Amino acid sequence: MELFELVTAQTVPDAVKAQAKSSTAQNGADVRFIAGGTNLIDYMKLNVERPRQLIDINGLPLDKIEKTADGGLKVGALARNADVAHDPTVKSQYAVLSQALLAGASPQLRNMATTGGNLLQKTRCVYYRDTAASCNKREPDSGCSAIGGYNRMLAILGTSDHCIASNPSDQNVALVALDATVHIEGPKGQRTVSIAEFYLVPGSTPQRETVLEPGDLVTHLTLPKLPAGTQSVYLKLRDRASYEFALASAAIVMKQDAGGKIDFIRVAMGGVGTKPWRSPEAERALLGKVPTPSNFRAAAESALHGAKPQSQNAFKVELAKRCLVHAMGQASQNA
Ligand code: SF4
Repeated sequence: MELFELVTAQTVPDAVKAQAKSSTAQNGADVRFIAGGTNLIDYMKLNVERPRQLIDINGLPLDKIEKTADGGLKVGALARNADVAHDPTVKSQYAVLSQALLAGASPQLRNMATTGGNLLQKTRCVYYRDTAASCNKREPDSGCSAIGGYNRMLAILGTSDHCIASNPSDQNVALVALDATVHIEGPKGQRTVSIAEFYLVPGSTPQRETVLEPGDLVTHLTLPKLPAGTQSVYLKLRDRASYEFALASAAIVMKQDAGGKIDFIRVAMGGVGTKPWRSPEAERALLGKVPTPSNFRAAAESALHGAKPQSQNAFKVELAKRCLVHAMGQASQNA
């Protein structure tokens, strides 16, 4: 780990002003915000991240979880993952988020990790973590060791010839299914971005993972109010039962009308996409249908239609379909 300067931000504008001096907003930025540090410190120890300055934002008033006037929920960027997972409103109205958070990491990490940090969690691609390997995301235009290399855990949706890294977060899959809005304060003021537009696919610039610009600080998220009677489920499939990243996961938000037909549906997947992956194809396939295994299977087929497996992860195509079918079944049984 290289030497760095640690400063403490007293206000949100101070934090924004300090980080705006950075070279870039994300990977390789020389000025970084730090909150829980559960991801960033790991990468600093590996010399993957070498910031000259860290801005400690733990003292900012961004840790509240509160209901909004329109019946939704506001989650501060500094709210700890454990606090969000066990919040009574999250558990009762946004169960998919609570389940996703509890499926991730360990209790100790969840006590430290924050909502905003999780939002920006880095890939677990082994080559990204190894400074001796070629990696376009860590070092642009250096190549991608994972294509043709060890890629069992990596993405099959949204990939490019430059990067096939999967987004590792569980939280973010649930947030996509909940259609969260990301609230950002930056050098030009405040703005909001739909979570569907927050993440970028790698294309030819895999080092750029989100729309954040230098100085941008995520202050909070808002979750919209869901229709009465909506059920939600997060299902995660992995190599071992805890403290492991998803091979495939599914976040389902579903409501049925009085006749039993699905009249509200959101489908998102984890472990398979270069970003938390929403599937409008699966949603279209289910809307207006009755919840049957064959309809779920047809929706799952459409969700994975564009999958491009790599040399070691073709199994994820069928695994993700089965994960979706099981999660859809669970959501419909809860209704
Ligand atoms: Fe780097 Fe992406 Fe290739 Fe992994 S998949 S080595 S993160 S460029």
